[in-house]
Amino acid sequence: MTHRPQQFASDNYAGICPEAFEAMARANDGSASAYGEDVWTKRACDAFRDLFETDCEIFFVFNGTAANALALSALCQSFHSVICSTAAHVETDECGAPEFFSNGAKLLTAASPDGRLTPEILRALATSRSDIHFPKPSVVSITQATETGRVYSIDEVRAISFAARNLGLKLHMDGARFANACARLDCAPADLSWRAGVDVLCFGGAKNGLGLGEAVIFFDRALAADFEYRCKQAGQLASKMRFLSAPWLGLLESGAWLRNARHANFCARKLADAVEASPGVSLTFPVEANAVFLSAPPAMLDALREKGWLFYTFIGAAARFMFAWDADPAQVEALAQDIVEVSRTITP
Ligand SMILES: *Cc1c(COP(=O)(O)O)cnc(C)c1O
Repeated sequence: MTHRPQQFASDNYAGICPEAFEAMARANDGSASAYGEDVWTKRACDAFRDLFETDCEIFFVFNGTAANALALSALCQSFHSVICSTAAHVETDECGAPEFFSNGAKLLTAASPDGRLTPEILRALATSRSDIHFPKPSVVSITQATETGRVYSIDEVRAISFAARNLGLKLHMDGARFANACARLDCAPADLSWRAGVDVLCFGGAKNGLGLGEAVIFFDRALAADFEYRCKQAGQLASKMRFLSAPWLGLLESGAWLRNARHANFCARKLADAVEASPGVSLTFPVEANAVFLSAPPAMLDALREKGWLFYTFIGAAARFMFAWDADPAQVEALAQDIVEVSRTITP
């Protein structure tokens, strides 16, 4: 059953993009070694090394919660802490998995208006206590693009990694929408990750066009020691690994990873441009990736729902619209027209 008309409540509503689907079908050719010892997995790892222009270590897991939680657990002892934003997915949407898999490392959250950390914020939190009674800061985690649809510039990531390094902290990047950030900045993935000081990147696949799967990328190979055991213990080692890795190969070799992200960002921009001048409606955050957050009176949001549109309001009561590789520009247009219409007919 397909959803008609197309909705933009989540970028996880999208199906699998053709490049990923075809690569999975190509890998479905006879038998192959299990648990990642197959040619598809090797080629997908090499494709990541080409993309990132470095000899990184790559692990394929089923979802983002596992990617983040296991990556953070590799960077922490149980008595450590992880500095992140109050809006971070690791804090708000992972059911305590980072704490669970690290055997108790604590997330130290900092409030910021748009979910972005700054060197000042992380320094203040990291130096707030230095006694033995407080969990020792060990890692900084940032999300790129953020949960609010914002993008850190390369210089901003560099400034954060510089501050982190000076405090002896590692830098983890939740890149569930890393491709959207690269598309926005039109930069090399290396410049936005290891060259800017990121130690471990969780590169999102599901929101980029896969059916499922995220890649945990260690730029500092020493940090990846025994990581395969963490994956296995957590139920994240796929036995028929080729079906998790081959779709990545499809995304990377065809360039679809970037095309998909560009298209998603384009659709967000298109909606924002069409509605931002409407009375009563305002953009909650600058639109920099594939998300549009709209602040509007509750009556307008109700009217939009009555017109059949689905959306969440869990961040600051704003209506969130997310776009993926499959967003139909005509449907984006239809949504924009309905927003303009409710803004005209409903007086705040
Ligand atoms: C979607 C998302 C994830 C991954 O979530 P899962 O549902 O566990 O795959 C991670 N981080 C951010 C910021 C996300 O938006």
